[in-house]
Amino acid sequence: MAESPLLNQMHKILIVDDEPAFQKLMKSQLEEKNYKVYNCLESEAALKLIEEISPHLILMDIMMPKVDGFSLIKRIRELNLRYFLPIVVVTARDKSKELAHSLDIGADDYISKPFEFDELLARIKNMLRIKKLQDSLLKKTEEVNEANLKINHLNHILTDTNKELKKKVYDLHNIFEISFKVMGQTEKDRLISTALLNALGIFTARSAMLLLLEPDDRNDLQVAESRGFLEDKVDEFSIPRDDKMVKYLEFIKKPLMLKDVNYEFETVMPTLEQFGIKALAPLFQDEELIGILCLGPNVSSQEYSIDILEMLGILTNMLSVALQNSNHFEQIKALSYTDEMTGLHNYRFFSMRLKEEISRAKRNETSLSLLILDVDYFKNYNDALGHPAGDEILRQLSKILRSTVRDNDIVARYGGEEFAIILPATDETGAGTLADRIRTKVEEYEFPHQEIQPNGTLTISIGIALYPDNAFDADDVIVAADRALYYAKERGRNRVVHFKEIKT
Ligand code: GH3
Ligand code: MG
Ligand code: MG
Repeated sequence: MAESPLLNQMHKILIVDDEPAFQKLMKSQLEEKNYKVYNCLESEAALKLIEEISPHLILMDIMMPKVDGFSLIKRIRELNLRYFLPIVVVTARDKSKELAHSLDIGADDYISKPFEFDELLARIKNMLRIKKLQDSLLKKTEEVNEANLKINHLNHILTDTNKELKKKVYDLHNIFEISFKVMGQTEKDRLISTALLNALGIFTARSAMLLLLEPDDRNDLQVAESRGFLEDKVDEFSIPRDDKMVKYLEFIKKPLMLKDVNYEFETVMPTLEQFGIKALAPLFQDEELIGILCLGPNVSSQEYSIDILEMLGILTNMLSVALQNSNHFEQIKALSYTDEMTGLHNYRFFSMRLKEEISRAKRNETSLSLLILDVDYFKNYNDALGHPAGDEILRQLSKILRSTVRDNDIVARYGGEEFAIILPATDETGAGTLADRIRTKVEEYEFPHQEIQPNGTLTISIGIALYPDNAFDADDVIVAADRALYYAKERGRNRVVHFKEIKT
């Protein structure tokens, strides 16, 4: 590039004139005033020189026999130079028309021949001062334009980053909402299907499956649940616990894309590919791998991004914790002695206490009575009004039972719609009286919609058996009370039957 005219201390003046005598005179006079002077005689040479030396000013005669001064001015202006190049035209005094035209098409000043050198010098200095101002203005404009470009570019970056951030916040919000739903499930099967369904939604995946190590088989990860697979074989799929792929996931501890791993996992890769699996995410409990979530292809067949993989990691971590919670919940439930629905003692508590009470009766040589009771035609009620309505009956019935027995009698939900009552230190007569009282209370109680029952009211049947009169241990007392109950049903229901009444 030509050197910047702004930095040049010595001003360069290009004289375009076809009179050698005039050129010579000008050159010597201007050089004396410390200008660097270039001469040229015709247009092409002038244009070439402009490009080469970037002159600070052009002094040009417009009325030359061989050169068309006007078209040279036009051509100079058409160069669209990035700096201001003043053109001073020299004319004869009586050529005011030409002068006006040259100013019109781009000349900046003029001087009429003959002139005093001092006048020319004054005009040159004036033009150079204007040039200086114009050039610095141009430079500033360029700087402003450049800054604007940079600002625009930054703006684009900001807009893009903003969009990405918004998407990330949205995704995180989603994943937490889902985790909340998943964590809220204590029942394992529902927990898993909630997690899979939501995974399909959030990752817009076509299919997903969860492989888990089950307590009865610690050697294989088996399909706990799958969604969206066309193959029937998918539910029989399993991966050996010691497969290389499982070990690798256990090592990296985060989700991976199948396309990013090489083919050393030849044992499972073909099947995973056949099922269209795209990503795998390990589930851990206490540092141990307990399962793998497999994600099928995106509905729009796009690759999963790093962000999606990150979210998959969050989801599987939450799922691991939720699964652990549900295991704990199941364990605690198994250890519990209370029936959740009715608040009565459960079967576990009942059988433990029956054994204890029979031992005590043995030691104290007292008798013990057992009542087993069952709702009559309960299926009818359920079928007509639905299970939740049936559950409500069981809860109301439990209240009646609890409020009718003494404090040290033990009322338990034996199972389904059957209840058991242990009456310690109670003989035949005492048991019979209590059983009758219960039966009557239930018959008289106004249960919702009981009129739909075959008897027009909701009733129960009760079987009674005694230790030691009818049996000597817990199991046999239960069998005896059960048989009495069965007999009560046979005899028409809504009645109390003592074991000894059974006629075979
Ligand atoms: P029966 O007089 O011979 O006892 O007739 P039933 O219809 O009561 O007897 P069955 O054994 O044929 O049916 C018992 C019904 O009790 C079937 C089942 O739907 C219902 N049941 C058992 N447990 C529950 C429960 O926890 N909630 C509800 N709502 N229904 C239950
Ligand atoms: Mg029953
Ligand atoms: Mg029944």
